[in-house]
Amino acid sequence: MRITPQRVAVLKILIGNQEHLSTDDIYARVREDYPMIGLATVYKTVAMLKDLGEISELNFSNDSARYDGSGKLPHPHFVCNRCNAITDLDENILENLSKNIAQKTGCQITNYRLDFFGICLNCQP
Ligand SMILES: [Zn+2]
Ligand SMILES: [Zn+2]
Repeated sequence: MRITPQRVAVLKILIGNQEHLSTDDIYARVREDYPMIGLATVYKTVAMLKDLGEISELNFSNDSARYDGSGKLPHPHFVCNRCNAITDLDENILENLSKNIAQKTGCQITNYRLDFFGICLNCQP
C-alpha cells in the first residue's frame, strides 16, 4: 500500500488515541487538514491498520464500529449506556483472571473482549 500524506494523517489520528473514534469521527478530523480526502481512503486506511494489528475494532450493537489505537491491546472497556463514551480500563486488573483461565483450561489465550456497561460519571445525576 502506498504511503500518502492522507494515510499518515489517519494513522496519526488513531495511534495513541484513547477516544475510540468511529470512521465518521476520523473522517471529520482528517478533513480539517485534507479537505479533499475521500471517505473510502479513510475506510481503507483503517482496514489496513486493523490488519496490521495497530488498532482494534470495537463493535457495539447500538453504535457504529469504533477504533482503538491506545496503548496495549487487548484491554477491557467501560461503555456508558447514556452517552456511548468508551473508556479504557487497566489491563492489569485482568491479568490474573486470564492466567487463571489458562491454567484451568490448558488453553492458550491470545486475545479477549471484555466490556463493562453502565452509566459514566458525566451522565450520573
Ligand atoms: Zn455517559
Ligand atoms: Zn480502548
